[in-house]
Amino acid sequence: WWDHVQPALKDPITSVTQAFLSDPTPFKLNLGGAYRDDKGKPVTLECVRRAAEKISDCEILESTKATTKSKFVQDCVKLAYGNDSSVVREGRFAGVPALSGTGACRLFAEFQRRFYSNSQMFLPMPTWSNHHDIWRDSQVCTRTYHYYDPDTKGLRFQALLNDIKNAPDRSFFLLHPCAHNPTGVDPNYEQWKQISHIFKIKNHFPFFDMAYQGIASGDVERDATAIRIFLEDGHLLGCAQSFSKNMGLYEHRVGCVSIVSRDEKQATAIKSQLQRIVRAMYSSSPVHGPLLVSTILNDADLKALWEEEVKVMVDRLISMRITLRQTLEQLNSSLSWEHITKQVGMFYFSGLSPEEVNQLQRDFHIYMTNDGRISMAGVTSSNVDYLANAIHEVTKV
Ligand code: PMP
Repeated sequence: WWDHVQPALKDPITSVTQAFLSDPTPFKLNLGGAYRDDKGKPVTLECVRRAAEKISDCEILESTKATTKSKFVQDCVKLAYGNDSSVVREGRFAGVPALSGTGACRLFAEFQRRFYSNSQMFLPMPTWSNHHDIWRDSQVCTRTYHYYDPDTKGLRFQALLNDIKNAPDRSFFLLHPCAHNPTGVDPNYEQWKQISHIFKIKNHFPFFDMAYQGIASGDVERDATAIRIFLEDGHLLGCAQSFSKNMGLYEHRVGCVSIVSRDEKQATAIKSQLQRIVRAMYSSSPVHGPLLVSTILNDADLKALWEEEVKVMVDRLISMRITLRQTLEQLNSSLSWEHITKQVGMFYFSGLSPEEVNQLQRDFHIYMTNDGRISMAGVTSSNVDYLANAIHEVTKV
């Protein structure tokens, strides 16, 4: 048995941390990973700590009830679609808790294949590498649409619009509503309006993968702008939500997938089908994480504290971007580093070549994904100089 099983290809993202961990050097930098504070330590948000204290053991034991989960889904959709959204008021959504953003994407991909078996998913180029794997494993073909321009390190807006126009009518598109991973490049308000307009003409289905609500601007409401524009324009849409980054709940795996429906009847049908997919895969998801999130979102003080803490994380990311850029400029680098501060969110898509990335790893013990994506979350006041000098060394001509 199993003699034919060969080792799987390495995952381009998780393998960075593995390589980092197996490097015996004491001074090394992991720029592939999750949010850290300025001391390089993982963060448990104070709002999460307080929410955990508020949840009694009894509540956890009793909360297998469907009501806890539907309450959580309701809280999630309010956060994504807006407190006063007519979708929420009229019950025009179907949602289920998911194993974080990845699980939410996977549930949607499975649902897509079941009900639109010959459809494809258009993914931005580039995108979070797991998107390709998720839709492939769900047996949905993927295509790509233009998004990032390596020359300007910004958006290829016209090419993006053309791809949306040229796709067959009624295509599925995955959109990152904010803090695009890996590029840190988002469309602006006017551009989202135009994208939404063309989606309407083409009757495409937008699926928003929102893994970073709050992490782009520091404001959770503002980061939902793209979704709100689409809702205002009357689209039906899907949404994956994750609380890994914005609540620091990485290992708790807390998320939600929701689909805006035409009416309550359609929502009921869609929800029952999502539940069936869940039932055959893992029956149901854990409740502790959803209880933490619901406790925070329904307590005015905890919610305000959460919003402040999101702002603190984002301000730190921005201040590291500013310092990194300034330090590189002070080193008299002949290259332009303005995109470090133009891009938003967790990642700085540096444009470093695979050779430069290798050199950083070999000579400076700095670890990042092969595409040159730097997680600003791993940059601190103590290592930013070292990083800037190393980048300068490998890029100077
Ligand atoms: N979508 C995007 C765009 C992401 O960047 C990530 C995390 N890197 C996810 C989804 C999933 O994250 P998680 O499963 O931890 O919520």
